[in-house]
Amino acid sequence: RHAASADIGLIGLAVMGQNLVLNMNDHGFVVCAYNRTTSKVDQFLANEAKGTKIVGAHSIEELCAKLKRPRKVMLLVKAGQPVDDFIAQLLPYLEEGDIIIDGGNSHFPDTIRRTKELEAKGLLYVGAGVSGGEEGARFGPSIMPGGSPAAWPHLQPIFQAVAAKADGMPCCDWVGETGSGHYVKMVHNGIEYGDMQLICEGYHIMKSMLGMGNDEIGASFTEWNAGDLDSFLMEITKDIVTFKDDDGKFLVEKIRDTAGQKGTGKWTAISALDLGMPVTLIGEAVFARCLSALKEERGRAAALLAGPKPGVDAKFTGDRALFLKDLENALYAAKLISYAQGFMLLREAAKEQGWHLNNGGIAIMWKGGCIIRSRFLGDIKKAFDRNPDLENLLFDPFFASVLERTQSSWRRVVAQATLLGVPVPALSSALAFYDGYRTAYLPANLLQAQRDYFGAHTYEFVDAPGSWHHTNWTGR
Ligand code: NAP
Repeated sequence: RHAASADIGLIGLAVMGQNLVLNMNDHGFVVCAYNRTTSKVDQFLANEAKGTKIVGAHSIEELCAKLKRPRKVMLLVKAGQPVDDFIAQLLPYLEEGDIIIDGGNSHFPDTIRRTKELEAKGLLYVGAGVSGGEEGARFGPSIMPGGSPAAWPHLQPIFQAVAAKADGMPCCDWVGETGSGHYVKMVHNGIEYGDMQLICEGYHIMKSMLGMGNDEIGASFTEWNAGDLDSFLMEITKDIVTFKDDDGKFLVEKIRDTAGQKGTGKWTAISALDLGMPVTLIGEAVFARCLSALKEERGRAAALLAGPKPGVDAKFTGDRALFLKDLENALYAAKLISYAQGFMLLREAAKEQGWHLNNGGIAIMWKGGCIIRSRFLGDIKKAFDRNPDLENLLFDPFFASVLERTQSSWRRVVAQATLLGVPVPALSSALAFYDGYRTAYLPANLLQAQRDYFGAHTYEFVDAPGSWHHTNWTGR
């Protein structure tokens, strides 16, 4: 009855787990499914999994007994304590060389800790970021696995079969050691926050500044989606802005303007601060959600605080068609900055953690299956193919020329929006980063002097870095 016949076990039959099990079954793998609330196993077997080769288990012991060796057990459960609880429950039934995979949105420090703990017990541990939501899990997600390298040959055939494909390549490859898979997934989510915020700023400009209706806005998004901005998020946005409710009115205009968040964007921003990397666009995207959530306070501020009111007393008087072209260019330029910042963060995290990251592989993992999938990631892959040691995406000749071509548009958009009072935190902070990054001499000389003046923090001379000096600035 307990014949060890299943290729992989999966714990967690919520949205992601059920769909990934069905996907694995489609690709010829025998999956044994288990869930804490075991009635869900029976429901799943009797309904969604009916007529498939999927088997079920009603205890962890039964699950482990049904798995071929080395056992592969994947968790798709709520991140946090439930993952530790399941690991503890699995331990008595696993043997040396068996593999636990956490496919949830775990925070990377937890994955680093778990990998070390399980490797010390002779087990293999993999933290695999999975993106693409329900649809992705069912028909091809992006999977970003990292952890014990010895686990990869056992997982590769399953993961690469079920993953999405981009340019004929699976959107799943080995990311690196310990928590790198979850780290890369976290940065993916941060970039997702940035991409969404940029599109929202474009929508805000078209709606409030240019006075465009939803059908016209949808037409712009449709046009942009056929060009450099071609992406999943642009595609869904064109559908969203033109979607009508039962009463014939646009649904998006009825939705309360307070953004939620689950924390992965915040984690990315915190990691950027910890590592001292200027990942400003993602940071602004997180703060923009926070600002939106102050809905009632913003209502009071709207009545109290002075400034141009877009579309009311601050009207756009330029050429709308030309400005829309500028806006498309501005969004492209700012998006490029966001990805450059994301890869800067990955580079620094890899340095700190001793990970050997494959940047081109990461671009392919993000090119299909996941929420940030886009044509643009193919250009990023090409940049890393041209130079695997590329210091910064902005140094790639293709991307440098994109910024040369788009930047006057970008400056006009940020300037106009600022003059007319439309907030563009992501578009403008990206431009500030770009200008700061390409400024060889920043005013930090004055800053160092200030620090030395009040705190004797010392400074270096331009021509003698590494040698520290203090001045008695007041003569007292
Ligand atoms: P979920 O709602 O995050 O989690 C539900 C699953 O976790 C159920 O199997 C549930 O078991 C189990 N669970 C919850 N609390 C538990 C506890 N204290 N002890 C043991 N088990 C517990 O499910 P999901 O949306 O499918 O996501 C699964 C994972 O994938 C999460 O880490 C999520 O962040 C990540 N993820 C989700 C998406 C998405 O689009 N939904 C996309 C990418 C990644 P019971 O049935 O017994 O309650």
